[in-house]
Amino acid sequence: MYTGNTKNLGVIGDPILHSLSPVMHNQALLAANLDYVYIAMQVKSHVLTEAVNGLRSLNFRGFNVTIPHKTNILPLLDTLDEDAQAIGAVNTVVNDNGCLKGYNTDVFGFVSALEKHGFSIAGKKVVVLGAGGAARAVIWGLIKQHAARLTIGVRNPDKAADLVTYFRKYMDIRLFHWQQESFTAELVQADLLVNTTPLGMFPHGDAMPPVPWEQLNPAAFVYDIIYTPTKTLFLQKAAEYGHPILNGEEMLVGQGAAAFKLWTGQEPSAEVMLTALQTTLAKQQTQQK
Ligand code: NAP
Repeated sequence: MYTGNTKNLGVIGDPILHSLSPVMHNQALLAANLDYVYIAMQVKSHVLTEAVNGLRSLNFRGFNVTIPHKTNILPLLDTLDEDAQAIGAVNTVVNDNGCLKGYNTDVFGFVSALEKHGFSIAGKKVVVLGAGGAARAVIWGLIKQHAARLTIGVRNPDKAADLVTYFRKYMDIRLFHWQQESFTAELVQADLLVNTTPLGMFPHGDAMPPVPWEQLNPAAFVYDIIYTPTKTLFLQKAAEYGHPILNGEEMLVGQGAAAFKLWTGQEPSAEVMLTALQTTLAKQQTQQK
């Protein structure tokens, strides 16, 4: 039962209808017996300032931020943590008595999922496919965890050049068109291959980035941050060639769990969050078929 004591949480974005965060957080809050409620709020870009100031005034304990506000929200916040500052994007805001601090918990989500599966990034050679919004958190996670070599493969290197130049102040990063021959040489020696493109995402399950599977090191870990479907064509191929594989569900749960802890001070049940996520995804996919 919600009362006058109930603390408010939520997510802002546009569109917001299919956000998985409300169900993930509300189930975890319920399981932890915490007096909070988490709601989805559609916020159009032209009213972002009013919305953020409104959440501050209404004393929301915190909120998540999703597309298209992850970058535009930066000047509206009072302070940023190291990851949000480095990436230039915020996915979580904490409201401490009117002071709004921005975080990026996607970085933790990405790294912690790998660690849970026994893969340690330090000293490893990594190839990342794609250079969009999610890739920023992935690249920063790899830099922070001391990857030894970092290569990005994309369909349009000119478009990715600014992002790569930005992160080159932290480590040497190679950028290739993913059909360039020299890119294959990078793939061959990779310990970890990460797909951050939406290729293969529901309902376009028959797409995947171009990878010469037969040439890869069979021990290479293959990670697709897509979470719908649970096993993209990219991961199916990787599994066929004997690679250890991981999808994006645990990254999503990890970023949510980190936000939950920032707001409530408590560790949520990752299992409850994952089950809520998988149940909702299954329902959404049935409805969309
Ligand atoms: P984005 O900002 O649009 O970036 C997508 C990247 O993929 C860009 O480099 C883009 O290249 C490339 N790309 C897009 N369509 C392509 C195509 N048809 N062929 C080749 N390259 C293509 O998207 P995003 O926000 O980074 O999200 C990417 C994926 O990550 C989505 O599937 C999303 O669901 C997933 N994601 C997962 C999590 C998680 O927690 N697991 C979190 C965030 C995102 P161009 O620049 O050339 O268009």
